[in-house]
Order: sequence, then C-alpha cells, then structure tokens
Amino acid sequence: MNHQTRFKRLAIHRSQQRPLRYGVAYSKYGSLLVLVICLLWPAALAQADSPTLDQNKPLIYTVQTGDTLIFIALKYNLNLADIALANHLRNPGLILPGQQLILPGASSLSNPESAERIGEQLHTVQAGETIGSIANSYYATPADVIALNRLDNPDLLQVGQILKVPVIQPPLSEPLVWPFTGVSLSEPTIIQGRTLVARVSLAGEATVVGDFEGQPIFFYHSSGADYWGLVAIHALIEPNVYQLHLTATMSDGQIYSHAENVKVMEGPYDSEAILLDGSRAELLQTELIKEEREKLAALWSQITPRPLWNGPFWFPIAEEAPRVTSAFGTRRSYNDSSDLSFHAGTDFGGGVGEPIYAPAGGIVVLAEPLMVRGNAVLIDHGMGLFSGYWHQSKIIVTPGQHMEPGDLIGYEGDTGLVTGPHLHWEFRLNGIAVDPLQWTRESIP
Ligand SMILES: [Zn+2]
Repeated sequence: MNHQTRFKRLAIHRSQQRPLRYGVAYSKYGSLLVLVICLLWPAALAQADSPTLDQNKPLIYTVQTGDTLIFIALKYNLNLADIALANHLRNPGLILPGQQLILPGASSLSNPESAERIGEQLHTVQAGETIGSIANSYYATPADVIALNRLDNPDLLQVGQILKVPVIQPPLSEPLVWPFTGVSLSEPTIIQGRTLVARVSLAGEATVVGDFEGQPIFFYHSSGADYWGLVAIHALIEPNVYQLHLTATMSDGQIYSHAENVKVMEGPYDSEAILLDGSRAELLQTELIKEEREKLAALWSQITPRPLWNGPFWFPIAEEAPRVTSAFGTRRSYNDSSDLSFHAGTDFGGGVGEPIYAPAGGIVVLAEPLMVRGNAVLIDHGMGLFSGYWHQSKIIVTPGQHMEPGDLIGYEGDTGLVTGPHLHWEFRLNGIAVDPLQWTRESIP
C-alpha cells in the first residue's frame, strides 16, 4: 500500500466569498490553490428509506439494518402485537434487514416524524437570509419552501422578495406517564454535529433504550432511578423537529414508551467545493477505501456499556493554544457532484514528530497503518464514543492498551492521503461523526 501518497494538485473554489480561514496557501495571481487538508469524509447522509403514505393502502415498511420491531412500532405509533399478527411473525425478535412488513393502521397517519403542516403564510426576505435560515425559523425544511414557491434557483433570493412559507405546528412532546418520572435533554434545541445528552428517570428497575432517526441509543444506569444516554446529531441532518423515542422494559417484562422532541438547527459550518483530478477521484472510490471504512465501522459499532472517561477531554496535542487548521463540519462537494459530504474531524497543524496524547480514559481498539488514514489509532471511550488519530508518523500504543488522559499515543505525521503533516482528530458516537471540540469545552454527560 502506498502510505505516502499525497494530493499534489487540488483546485478549489469557494462557494462563499469569505476568505479562506484555514491552512490554505495560494499564489496571489494563480487560480490554482494548494490546499493542506485531509480528505476524510463520511459518505453523504444516506437518504432514509421513508415510506410514502397513502390513505387507502396499508403501509409497507422495509426493515433497515439495526431496526427492531419495537422501534418500528414506536416510530409509527403502532402496537407491536398488531404488527406481529399482520405479518404472521412467530418470533417478533427476529426481523431481518430487507424484510418487508405490513404496518396495519399506519396508512391514515401523517408522517409521525415530522411536524404537522396546518397552512401557509408570507415571509419577506431580509438581508442575510437564506432558504435554510428562513425554513428553520418556520420549523420547515428548505425543500418545503422551495417547492411552495416553485423556486428554480433558491440561491438567488432578493431582499424584499415575498415567499410563501408553511405554517407548521411542531409536534408536542408527550406528557410524562408512569413509569417515566423525568426526561430531560441537555439541549432541546441543538445544532447539527453536536452530542446530545438524554437523561431519564424511572419508577422502578428497568432497562432503557432509545431510538433517534434509526440511531439506537444505549442508556447507562447511573444511580437509583436515573439513566443517561448520548445521541449524535448528524452534521448533515435536515433541520427539523425530530423525536427521540425511549423504551423502558420493566423488571416484570412490561414495556413502556415515551417520545421527546428534539429541534435541530443548521450548524454554522463553512462550505467549499473541491476539484480532484480524475485519477484521485477514482482512487477515492476503490474497494480498499471501502474496506478501510468498513473495518473502522465494525470497530465503532462495538459498545462498551459504561463511560471510561471523566470530565472534559484534553486536547490531543500539547500546545497551549492548539492550532486548528480545518474545522469539523465544513461542507464539501467534490467535482461538481451533488453529493454533499463534510469534514468529519478537527485538524490540528504542527509538524512531523509532534507528540499526540490521549485526551481521556479509554481502551485502544486499533493501532495500525491504513491506506487513507495513514498510521491510525482508535480509542474506545465507552457508551458508543470513539476517538480517532489519523496520519501519524509513528504509533506508540497497541490494541487492548488502557489509556489515561495524557498518555502518549504516537507522533504527528503525514501518512495516508494528505497534502501535509497534521493530526486529524475524529469523534464517532454511535458510528456518527460529532464535533470533537464540544467534548473539550464541556463536561459530558
Ligand atoms: Zn481532517
């Protein structure tokens, strides 16, 4: 494998007129920019396979990876026994991805995941507004506003232009019913890319699980009646009101559920368009890269059911004021493709040989050279949270090793697909990339 491959030529143009803030050197007159950046991004957010609803036909639902019957029942406000009966399921615990299920009675429901539309009103475009910001302030999606106004070019809004916007009633969180005695969210309104903490109190001994847009949420029994879990808010999730579904299984086997609203707002992320030459673009599609991603995904899907960290995370490099050269969440589009991706980590500048330290307690689950990510280390912090350290010049740790904050992991380098030495620091929560810097500023949970 070619660990030293570099991106030599990258032409970049910005979709916004702001000056480039991070790590970009360019010649004053040339149009060719050389970008010191690491090209790591998760695939664009897979479009959820949301079934369309028809008044007359029963809803047919295709089981997704990670689905359980109870999640499907909760999602569509249905009774688990009714679904099992309608589909002749002898064992409701055994459903398989790709299997089609009839959801009896779901046809008359509006989409339970989204807010309800009850009318239209007019909005006058103000300076600085975008379709996204306007949609956000009305609990609508940009697609709603574009469709309602038949906008051919939604990027060309004019101040004073009058737009129709939907009047939407956000769904109300359900009132708490026994055995739920308390449910709270660290941020009921949260921006894309952040980590949300959900706290649940229950009357009696129980097991709690959650589901947020197909993301299974593991809950930790912290004390007495109290449980907490971590929810990753995807950096590209459509701003909207979503529901966090909670299921408590009591010691007598009885199952209770509750749904709590989470309003997601657009994150303050920059965007950039990147042109890759043909051979590079091709390289990024190879089987090897897919294998590498799958290898990591298999590791971060293994949940250690307790937190191994304590308090805020330290920075992974020793500098007093670490120099961030590329921020988490920056939207990227490649070669005019409409697929949107984003920068899945925080890049730190520095130089080859700069020591890298563990930011918190955890267990090393991967320490080896990878094609794209170079010399890579992945640390399991428990509760579905993992931190990754890519492009190192040298790795010091081995898999299975327990880490305390400040323990040496390895040294900064330029291995893998990079244009220059840097540390790409990536956090995965339930497999979803979240902003690492939130974890250095806040003591989670
Ligand atoms: Zn990076």
